[in-house]
Amino acid sequence: MFRIGLGHDSHRLGPGDGLVIGGVSIPHHRAAIGHSDADVLLHAITDALLGAAALGDIGEMFPDTDPANQGRDSADMLRRALDRVSAAGWRIVNLDCVIFAQRPKILPHRPAIRRRIAEILGIDEAAVWLKAKTGEGVGPIGEELAVGAECVVLIERQS
Ligand SMILES: [Zn+2]
Repeated sequence: MFRIGLGHDSHRLGPGDGLVIGGVSIPHHRAAIGHSDADVLLHAITDALLGAAALGDIGEMFPDTDPANQGRDSADMLRRALDRVSAAGWRIVNLDCVIFAQRPKILPHRPAIRRRIAEILGIDEAAVWLKAKTGEGVGPIGEELAVGAECVVLIERQS
């Protein structure tokens, strides 16, 4: 038995000195603004995973009204979501993701991001893919006001 899940996230860009995307620090002259470490990709993956198993969402698991979530490591959030999904008898087959960012360039960091996501989820790197799109210079992404991410994940019932 298989299930799929879809996750989407976006964060504003503001003053700062770099982004965390997929658990990897990427140098930049701006930063993503958010309650946690604002890792737009790990947040989309977390929501996709929870959604696939119909087990909640990131906002319900980690409310931004809880001070414990201030500056929280998104890798920790993803691991906790994975624990919830695994405990319900599911395992990840693969995931496919898209990052939306005019700048910085994401593709040079793809190998490191895939490696890190595979490590967090305890799956093979070959089961993690990542694409990157600019906003073609228009809209909040293109005007470098925001970054976004989408993810689909396939899970299957563990035998
Ligand atoms: Zn987020």
